[in-house]
Parts: sequence; structure tokens; C-alpha cells
Amino acid sequence: MSPVTAESYAARLAETLPAVRERIERAAGAAGRSPDGVRLVAVTKAHPLEAVRAALDAGLTDLGENRVGELEGKRAEIGADTATWHMIGQIQSRKADRAVAASDLIHSIDRDKLARKVAQAAIAAGRHARVLLQVNTSGEDAKGGFEGDGVVERLHEVAARDGLEVVGLMTMAPFVDDERVLSDAFRRLRELSERLHEVGAPVGSELSMGMTNDLEIAVREGSTIVRIGTALFGERVR
Ligand SMILES: *Cc1c(COP(=O)(O)O)cnc(C)c1O
Repeated sequence: MSPVTAESYAARLAETLPAVRERIERAAGAAGRSPDGVRLVAVTKAHPLEAVRAALDAGLTDLGENRVGELEGKRAEIGADTATWHMIGQIQSRKADRAVAASDLIHSIDRDKLARKVAQAAIAAGRHARVLLQVNTSGEDAKGGFEGDGVVERLHEVAARDGLEVVGLMTMAPFVDDERVLSDAFRRLRELSERLHEVGAPVGSELSMGMTNDLEIAVREGSTIVRIGTALFGERVR
């Protein structure tokens, strides 16, 4: 592999970022939506600081990480206010306070216990935690997230918890190529959001869905935040 430098990431992004933006624009256009309604989170997980620096230079200011330690490290190096920091990966409950301290938006509130711990940590810090509630829309065991019977009621309860500001929902589609299966998963998230609004749950309208392989389908189904790693930075080492 060629050595990873800020220059090589910059050169890569010079090609990949316009391509990703075009994918978003086309998908939004085809769905009669404005591309401005889709926020691009650049997923820098498993890439070095050089990738983060190149992303910032290229104008990407929403950065996503899936490990609390890596998020803390990069945020400390780059500066808390230089980017908007997104925590997108599974969080151990005992790291809830660290996740709250290091994130501007946590996408992966995937269970009651974590919601409680994150809320407690935010209250202790004298603030609200901005979060998305993660839903398992595919039924795959390996995928985290709220699911099953009574999911609307449970999400409503979590959203009403003091210390949390629930700005929307998040999902990960199954790892398949079948467009129908992917659309179904994303549509389920959008419908869940609509049902929560119907019953007056304090849930914002963000829908974090869509990754490198399925962003067009997610945008067509109403995604407002796509989380893109591979298409921007290339394959990860881990
Ligand atoms: C790694 C990751 C992504 C980015 O995936 P790519 O396929 O590389 O675009 C998005 N969301 C989550 C939760 C991830 O863990």
C-alpha cells in the first residue's frame, strides 16, 4: 500500500468527493428533493488524522467515528469546534459519559440502558445530549437497535427522557444488494418517524440512513443524513 499522507488523502478526495456529491444530487433530484436536505457525514473511522485534515480542507465538517477512544483522540488533535463530531458506532454503557463529552450528535442510541446512561451523563454535565435513536429495520440479529412489538411506544418513552434531545432516527440496512430489501428497511424507518410524530413523540425529523453502497436508495426514501466512509476515503485497514 502507498504511504498515507495528507496529500494522498487530499488527492483522493479531489476525485471522490465530487463523485459522492453528484450521487447525492442525482438521487435527490430523482426523488424531487433538494440535495441541501441531505447532510454528508464523512466517516473517518480507521483512517489516520491525515484523512481528517484532508476532509476538513476539502470542506467536509461533519465527521463520523465509531469508537469512543478514536473519536476522543481525533477531536483532541483537531479541535472540538473545528468540526461537528458524530458518534455512529455501538457504545458500551460504561463509556456513555465519554461519548456524551466527545460528540455533537450520537447516532447510535440502540437500547434503553444506553439511553438512560447517556441522559444521566448529559444531565450531570448540565446539558442535553443530541441523539438519534437507532432502529433495527432489518431484523438481523447482528444489527443493533430498537425493534419488535411496541417499538413506537418504547421509542416514544425514550424520546421523552430528560437529558436527551432526540433529533431523529438512524438505521443500518442489511448487507445485501437486493434493492427491494434495502428500500424496505429505509422506508420502515421513515414510516416509524411518521408514526412517532402522529402520536406527538418529541422526536425531530432527521433520518440518518445511507452508506457507500446504498446512499441512492436511502436518499430516495427520505434520508436527511448519509454516513459515507469507503466512497470518500477508500477501503479501511480494519
Ligand atoms: C462504517 C460505517 C459507515 C460508513 O460505511 P461505508 O460503507 O464505508 O460508507 C456508516 N455508518 C456506520 C454506522 C458505520 O459503522
